[in-house]
Amino acid sequence: MDDKVAAPHMIAVDEKIRALLPDAISLLRRLVNTNSINPLFPGIRREDVIGGESACGAMLSDFLAGHNFVSETVAVDPERSNRIIRKKGTGGGRSIFINGHVDTVAPFRVSEWLGGNPWSGEVRDGRVNGLGSTDMKGGLIAAALALAALDAASIRLKGEVQFHAVVGEEVMSHELGTTAVLEAGFGGEAAIVVEPTSQPRPLSIATVSAGNFNLQLDVKGYGTHSGNRGPSIRAGGEGNAAGVNAVEKAILVVQALQQLEQEWGITKSHPAFPAGIFSMVPGVFHGDAGVPSVGYLAESATIGYLVWYPPNEGPEAVKAEIERHVHHAAQLDSWLRQNPPRFRWESHWPVFDTPADHPLVKLLVADRADVLGEIPAGLPQTHSFNAVCDASFIAAKGIPVVAMGPGDLRCAHAVNEYVDLAEIASCARILARTIVGWCGAA
Ligand SMILES: [Zn+2]
Repeated sequence: MDDKVAAPHMIAVDEKIRALLPDAISLLRRLVNTNSINPLFPGIRREDVIGGESACGAMLSDFLAGHNFVSETVAVDPERSNRIIRKKGTGGGRSIFINGHVDTVAPFRVSEWLGGNPWSGEVRDGRVNGLGSTDMKGGLIAAALALAALDAASIRLKGEVQFHAVVGEEVMSHELGTTAVLEAGFGGEAAIVVEPTSQPRPLSIATVSAGNFNLQLDVKGYGTHSGNRGPSIRAGGEGNAAGVNAVEKAILVVQALQQLEQEWGITKSHPAFPAGIFSMVPGVFHGDAGVPSVGYLAESATIGYLVWYPPNEGPEAVKAEIERHVHHAAQLDSWLRQNPPRFRWESHWPVFDTPADHPLVKLLVADRADVLGEIPAGLPQTHSFNAVCDASFIAAKGIPVVAMGPGDLRCAHAVNEYVDLAEIASCARILARTIVGWCGAA
């Protein structure tokens, strides 16, 4: 198509990216300085953080207003604005949008962060440090830099380009963020989510993610004095009539699910994912008699699981498989047989799975090779995203979507999060190429 004319255009765009990089880095530092912890994050008081997300969106739209972009807001929650930053095309081209979230998780071990606190934005060794730098303010900046450079290089796109800076991602509030924006009528014919994908190599093209469930399993006991333990479990005692310790019954459930998980290592696989990734993580375990004392047999226990399942299996089938397995395991125990564990499926994060031969994917693979060099033949050209992100809710609207952005998931949600500045510039160069390739240049 425009291959012959695109190359000189891209040299000009690359020069503009280099020239605009210092401004972009200072904007990134201001974004990191801005506390935009998700107000619904566990343990966070809304009044302490509200407004941070909207402020980040406004900074991005101010930056791009200087490059002929206009912006609008969608705010289901009036104090939590999504920003839609857009520029119309000249006509005749395909539209695209970039998506990124402005909210962050809550930090921990706050005194140990580089620069003295999680919001320092300190620049050291070619990195910006701070909460949200990788996840995903670095990605937002790469997108802003690409769009600003296209304008500065006087590239006029045929198709419309939009940039959605959304709220709510970290607790799956997509109905306040990504989904709200799409349902308000914004969007395009393809999308790129600039989440950190620098695993297994910088700026990997991620076309697929696993799905996950938050499963809460309630196990009932019969709470009595802890002195009843002997008669409740020893030969010659009264058994369940003397008391039943819910904590230990819940351990039986954990063991049963470990057995199923072991089986999943063999039965559940997908070519894009490393072996064994589909798993059930018992991340929270609580049990007592209603008072936090060891003087009792526990009356109830709850186990909180995160279940990771493959994109090639339906969520309902996975749920049914887990319930069936626990039900069968319960038959082996006289108490659980009568008092089966109760399932609460609290949330479901669906998969996204864009075919590797989709034109958007091919374009990104070629543009990544142009900027960073070819991935050796024989190695995978595309990868999985080994977490979940808003790409799933974009795919749910039937829009082809890929994740590609600067930053490393290994430092996201961790102390001393950082993002590499060279990766931001490379990401902007790839995004600019793909936007031009997809939308067409007039
Ligand atoms: Zn993220």
